[in-house]
Amino acid sequence: MDEKKTDILMEKIVALAKRRGFVFPGSEIYGGLANSYEYGPVGAELKRNIQNEWWRTFVQGRGDMVGLDSSIILHPKVWEASGHASGFSDAMIECKKCHTRTRADHLIENHFEERNESMGVEGKKEFELDEIIQTNKIKCPVCGSFDWTPVRKFNLLFETHVGIVPESQSKVYLRGETAQGIFVAFKNITDSTRVKLPFGVGQLGKSFRNEITKGNWIFRTLEFEQAEIEYFFNPELTEWKPLFEKWKEDMEAFVTGTLGVSKENLRWREHGDEERSFYSKRTEDLEYRFPFGFKELWGLAYRTDYDLNQHMKFSGIDLSYTDPATGKKFVPHVIEPAVGINRLMAMTMLESYREENDRVYLKLPPRIAPYKVAVFPLLANKPALVEKARDIHDELQKRFPVAWDDRGNIGKRYYAQDEIGTPFCVTVDFDTLGEGGNEKKDTVTVRDRDTGEQERVPITNLGEYLHGNVYR
Ligand code: ATP
Repeated sequence: MDEKKTDILMEKIVALAKRRGFVFPGSEIYGGLANSYEYGPVGAELKRNIQNEWWRTFVQGRGDMVGLDSSIILHPKVWEASGHASGFSDAMIECKKCHTRTRADHLIENHFEERNESMGVEGKKEFELDEIIQTNKIKCPVCGSFDWTPVRKFNLLFETHVGIVPESQSKVYLRGETAQGIFVAFKNITDSTRVKLPFGVGQLGKSFRNEITKGNWIFRTLEFEQAEIEYFFNPELTEWKPLFEKWKEDMEAFVTGTLGVSKENLRWREHGDEERSFYSKRTEDLEYRFPFGFKELWGLAYRTDYDLNQHMKFSGIDLSYTDPATGKKFVPHVIEPAVGINRLMAMTMLESYREENDRVYLKLPPRIAPYKVAVFPLLANKPALVEKARDIHDELQKRFPVAWDDRGNIGKRYYAQDEIGTPFCVTVDFDTLGEGGNEKKDTVTVRDRDTGEQERVPITNLGEYLHGNVYR
């Protein structure tokens, strides 16, 4: 797609998301808060469904995984041990004229991308970024001036305080990632369960980062739902390279299979030596072709035994594992797949957007669609139709999330359900009541979102029909 078309797609998705109750700008009645959003009635469902699918696939659906739900506020030493307190920083620059603050690496990347060129900025020092900005005379994207402060680092962790009286308060951080909670709980998990290496721990929950650049809608936000796995193994018994490749396959299968994303919009990018953390042997990002370019969706890193060793050092507690067969003690290595659910959701909405003639619909995989079915009485002012439709709605609601609509005409109702990606619409009409003869009595019209085709289904089979088509 050319650039103009993709920009328009982004605008359309953002507008649809607001209009239909997927995503609203954060704190809007107070003028908004940059890089924060609210998930509306259908957005909350879609996000939750993606989370549930992730959990079902990677935690409940595997014999070698267990789940965890650790704290958002952890002991401050956790972030010293992990290196976040000192090293989790981005390079920032400020325009002296309009005071726009932005990340220096993003400023440079955007400048070169607009010219269809590229410039590697990963791992560059502040003075090197300054040099690139000065040499290429990169201007402020907001006011057009070329008058920057020098580049300086700032930490992404949000600070807060525990304790009620100022003298006894202590500084803590909101977690910048969920992964550290897994290392902190490692000993409790191995002590309390029967897990044996290799095994993984999955965790899903909010993480917080003080992001200052324009976030591209829900792609980059101050708080986000992170889904991370630490997969522990014994490097003497399990080769890391095939394991790494297997995780790549599993991640890709989730994106293409469960979320219905086309392979051609995905690519893997390996981090070079400058970009990769010093303790990581290999890091690769699964990237999606967002309208603003190929960007990281899901990271995969082989982190060796670095994190557990750091926590042993800082806590003084032995976090090694004893092989039950040999009695040998060692510190396990880990491979870490880490993703943001919000990014998955943005990708899924962009990917499923369809325009056909005057019809707009989201071709969401039925499993993750906010509602699986909508039920309508043909006419809202005919009590017999409304009552029958209500009965069907209430019965289906015992099994599926169901929408109800009796406003306007059927065409408008289809239009609204198409835009939120409801895979099936059920209409109760006079034939259902038996007014068209016995043949169609107690049957309803089921309309398929993707084809627009309609078929008559007996009410008694409706639950099975929908179940079969939604969870196929
Ligand atoms: P980026 O380079 O885009 O800032 P990152 O490399 O810092 O991301 P990681 O620390 O590897 O990201 O986090 C793992 C995953 O968490 C990312 O792949 C992304 O899906 C998600 N993520 C990270 N930061 C944010 C954010 N601010 N908003 C939404 N999702 C995020």
